[in-house]
Amino acid sequence: MSTERVSAWEAARERLESAARLVGLDPGLALLVIEPERVLEVSVPFRRDDGRIELLKGWRVHHNTSRGPGKGGIRFHPAVNADEVKALASEMSVKCAVVDIPFGGAKGGVAVDPRPLSAGELERVTRRYAFGVGPLLDPDRDVPAPDVNTDARVMAWLMDTISMIRGRATPGVVTGKPLAIGGSHGHVGATSRGVTICVQATFAELGMPLAGARAVIQGYGKVGAPLVYLLSSLGMRVVAVSDVDGAVHNPAGLDPAALSQHTEQTGSVAGFALAEAIDPQELFSIECELAVPAALGGVIDAATAASLGAKVVVEAANGPTLPEADPVLASRGIVVVPDVLANAGGVTASYFEWAQDRGGYAWEADVVAERLRRTMAQAFDATWRQSQALKVPLREAAMALGVERIAEATQLRGLFP
Ligand code: GLU
Repeated sequence: MSTERVSAWEAARERLESAARLVGLDPGLALLVIEPERVLEVSVPFRRDDGRIELLKGWRVHHNTSRGPGKGGIRFHPAVNADEVKALASEMSVKCAVVDIPFGGAKGGVAVDPRPLSAGELERVTRRYAFGVGPLLDPDRDVPAPDVNTDARVMAWLMDTISMIRGRATPGVVTGKPLAIGGSHGHVGATSRGVTICVQATFAELGMPLAGARAVIQGYGKVGAPLVYLLSSLGMRVVAVSDVDGAVHNPAGLDPAALSQHTEQTGSVAGFALAEAIDPQELFSIECELAVPAALGGVIDAATAASLGAKVVVEAANGPTLPEADPVLASRGIVVVPDVLANAGGVTASYFEWAQDRGGYAWEADVVAERLRRTMAQAFDATWRQSQALKVPLREAAMALGVERIAEATQLRGLFP
């Protein structure tokens, strides 16, 4: 790990600025595309089960809403802060533009470790946070979704809180809800399916066979766990997986069903009998064809990039690669499919859910799956072509594509007042 770290927002801003330069944006217009529109910080007081009152901090950021309502998840994690939420919101603006869905970028979070909280405590935190940021939320203004450590249950509480406050059912105010209250088929696992589509497309472009190709996955949560199945079903061998408690390695490939059963019983991949325990720090240095960071940001620094054992990185997590690592990966000929493209399956499924809620008509599962496939394939092709045309890595190409589309909408709408 390197010692001098730029903040998450500084890193995000740097990437936005260089994309703006690459596409030749007017400096004034670039300011509108780069700087967040608004940042709301709220106190989130809540009562513990034993009667004590605690107070947490939460945020909701609108980065750019020229293309439509703000869209982006809510994360519950002790490391959440305004700087990180700003960075993640800006990545959502670019992501929604890359897959060309009618949303701007937003993000939210609460600085909390949800693991020691009871279900009741988690519900009270969620409802109070929803109340706090409620003035920013609306189907036409800002639509949250799950992110790190939040799920359909949390989204249900959020939807209920806003609906209670406003006195009317408001399912379109949040996506990633349970099916019974306006959720969509295919939202669960959509990020992982989008990642898989990017893996297939990248390997096809590079002429690399999928059958027998080795993959390592960092993270075994909402995104990483389905990926073990999905990549294995393409004929790939997922040889190593890690989570917060440990990492396991089996050069013959991990058995997805056995691994899933083990984690259901123990809560972690650690101790999985059909594999060897390894130091999680070693995961990315394992020689393989594909590495998928599917946990938190900032995990691939210059040193990790220098020893990375994969030929292709597909970023399922948000912001897993630090800017300092990008040139190292490029110089080693490692192809990186950036987060703003690779993990956009989740927000694309969110768009479908929002459209269904507003239309009051649910789509069949196969309709959702086919539209997701088409949207991801188009975004991948557009990014790949942009990368060839500009002769830049895929990240710069995706950033350029996204920034250009946001700038176009911003310019068409003009400067208020
Ligand atoms: N949290 C997901 C992401 O980072 C999904 C966001 C959404 O659906 O709004 O892309």
